[in-house]
Amino acid sequence: MNDQYGRRIDYMRVSVTDRCNLRCVYCMPGEGFSFLPHEDILSFEEIERVCRIGVRLGITKIKLTGGEPLVRRGIPDLVGKLKGIPGIDEVTLTTNGILLKEQINELVSNGLASVNISIDTLDERRYFRMTRGGDIKKALEGMESALKYPDLKVKVNCVPFCEEDCISLALLAKKRKIDVRFIEMMPIGMGKEFHGVSEEELLGILGEKLPRFSPYVGEPLGNGPCHYYDVDGFSGKIGFISAVSHKFCGECNRIRLTSQGFLKTCLQYAAGRDLRGVIRSGGSDEELKAVILEALAEKPDGHVFGGGLEKQKD
Ligand code: SAM
Ligand code: SF4
Repeated sequence: MNDQYGRRIDYMRVSVTDRCNLRCVYCMPGEGFSFLPHEDILSFEEIERVCRIGVRLGITKIKLTGGEPLVRRGIPDLVGKLKGIPGIDEVTLTTNGILLKEQINELVSNGLASVNISIDTLDERRYFRMTRGGDIKKALEGMESALKYPDLKVKVNCVPFCEEDCISLALLAKKRKIDVRFIEMMPIGMGKEFHGVSEEELLGILGEKLPRFSPYVGEPLGNGPCHYYDVDGFSGKIGFISAVSHKFCGECNRIRLTSQGFLKTCLQYAAGRDLRGVIRSGGSDEELKAVILEALAEKPDGHVFGGGLEKQKD
């Protein structure tokens, strides 16, 4: 399906839970918030139904996310169910990796194509502080367990805070077949309180410490806005997802389903449609499809994060 600006929408991010086993400082408050009751969250059957209708509208790729998707029981089963929908080419996952080791076998057997593991620092103490209590060893075990599956694409996503972390994380791509992607801090949620490192700054830092960088020019990699570099002697690539300094809304191919079943068409705006309400009031597939199309008709042409990475105000 195309939106009103002619963008082809074929990718849906599906949040399966608002819960998480970490509390990354730029993502969640440390305290003073409550999670949704279980009955407010879409069931797997409801998620599958929305995805089936999504396929009729041109969705071919689904990314499971959260919160932390792997804290919800049965995610490998959900992967299998979604992968089994005719027309779905790829089911992928974004995780902090903490629970990955124990689920990876079933995830891969059920058809997971790719996993993004979010790790912002390899330093044990900094990781503990930044995630408010996380154990980097567990995240790295998760990453290593994923690397044992040669057909599974493994990427590490990092929201960088300091020079040392950028270099040590980039070096993960030297010997291992991992693409390491640096994500600019976005002024959404708790991220408004933090200063990010821009792509330009990162290129400067990495360019000084790593071998020669050259923009990757082969077949497009992945489903999103990441642009990649080859580094001499590295097995994996280095990528940048720079929503603020290199706005990529013109190529946006995605919609987002929240864990409560609200369909959002842009991560910055609250606008969208409540699909759970339609489903739970007995709406037909045709009604659901019409509501998805209504949401899509209002997809904004882009976010307005502003041109810089300076602290944003509400
Ligand atoms: N818990 C999983 C994880 O950490 O990968 C999935 C959900 S998490 C919200 C998905 C990604 O969003 C993570 O890579 C995280 O670093 C990133 N993220 C969260 N808040 C952000 C912000 N304000 N700016 C940029 N990236 C952010
Ligand atoms: Fe949890 Fe992921 Fe947010 Fe960190 S970034 S608090 S792991 S949802």
